[in-house]
Amino acid sequence: MIYDIVIIGSGPAGWTAAIYAARAELKPLVFEGSEPGGQLMTTTEVENFPGFVNGIQGPELMRVLRDQAKRFGTQIMSEVVESVDFSSRPYTVTTKEQIVKAKTIVISTGAKARRLGLESEQKLFGHGVSACATCDGFFFKGKNVIVVGGGDGAMEEANFLTRFAEKVTIVHRRDVFKASKIMQERVMDNPKIDIIWNAEVDEILGVAVGHVTGVRLKDTVNGETYEISIDGVFAAIGHEPNTSLFKGKVDLDEKGYIKTIPGTSRTNIEGVFAAGDVQDTRYRQAITAASSGCMAALDAEKSLTAYVSL
Ligand SMILES: Cc1cc2nc3c(=O)[nH]c(=O)nc-3n(C[C@H](O)[C@H](O)[C@H](O)COP(=O)(O)OP(=O)(O)OC[C@H]3O[C@@H](n4cnc5c(N)ncnc54)[C@H](O)[C@@H]3O)c2cc1C
Repeated sequence: MIYDIVIIGSGPAGWTAAIYAARAELKPLVFEGSEPGGQLMTTTEVENFPGFVNGIQGPELMRVLRDQAKRFGTQIMSEVVESVDFSSRPYTVTTKEQIVKAKTIVISTGAKARRLGLESEQKLFGHGVSACATCDGFFFKGKNVIVVGGGDGAMEEANFLTRFAEKVTIVHRRDVFKASKIMQERVMDNPKIDIIWNAEVDEILGVAVGHVTGVRLKDTVNGETYEISIDGVFAAIGHEPNTSLFKGKVDLDEKGYIKTIPGTSRTNIEGVFAAGDVQDTRYRQAITAASSGCMAALDAEKSLTAYVSL
């Protein structure tokens, strides 16, 4: 069987592409991947997705989008795509269980949180080191934690963690945040948050005892190192696009994001489209992901019409 459209990824971009494609009777197939529902499954309240006056829980929003896609006939497979072949059309998508052919493809594999890159971080991940305050904040009730970063993500994580932690210290390698003004203000106004400027994490301490006991920080101005005692480390230093699968198959930018033709979801391969965080270095929001998912489905529909009439 050759599918009209295969959608790789089940975040807001993937489900929106599926809703549009299914309503256009294209019978889309969605591969959900290893994180069905995507990044919003790791958060609680989403207050900025239009249509929900009182906000909605992230997992609930994703359940609703999935159901909406299903309602119009989307076929869903809980599988991870392991390889793609875009060298001849129809294109080939391979998972552990099967090989499918598709006339058009929407790539909506999203992004993931970036790690600090320390061996101690790796060893203590899940033992005091986390990249998700929403997932792990509960475990730090009454404890002292640091949040590493200076963007909106770091501000959000720090504020959220004050619900549980006794004290939250933001460690930032510069003397100014790049976060939006409103997010910075929330942090500055929060009495449970301290800030250490001009410092980066040189080492996470506690490997010998199997849990985080502190960090060694390095002053980014004079290079001096010093240690502080803490119970948890939250890295909030940005995201990496999930594009390893597509290296050499479709054009990526220098940071690994899929390149799209501005104002469209089109990649350099005819019939292959990208939507959501995987191609978005700027906004990375649920609504922008959903919006580009819509664009991808509409672009795929046009491409199919042209392909069929060849
Ligand atoms: C903690 C947190 C809180 C957030 N809060 C908000 C908020 O309040 N409001 C807001 O607008 N945005 C928020 N965001 C951002 C928002 O979650 C993202 O912008 C959005 O989820 C991006 O959607 P996406 O569809 O591009 O990809 P993602 O949500 O990243 O989903 C990617 C999907 O691709 C799948 N996938 C990856 N690789 C493969 C593969 N090889 N095969 C098959 N499938 C694959 C994954 O399983 C996943 O389903 C938050 C993000 C985080 C992390």
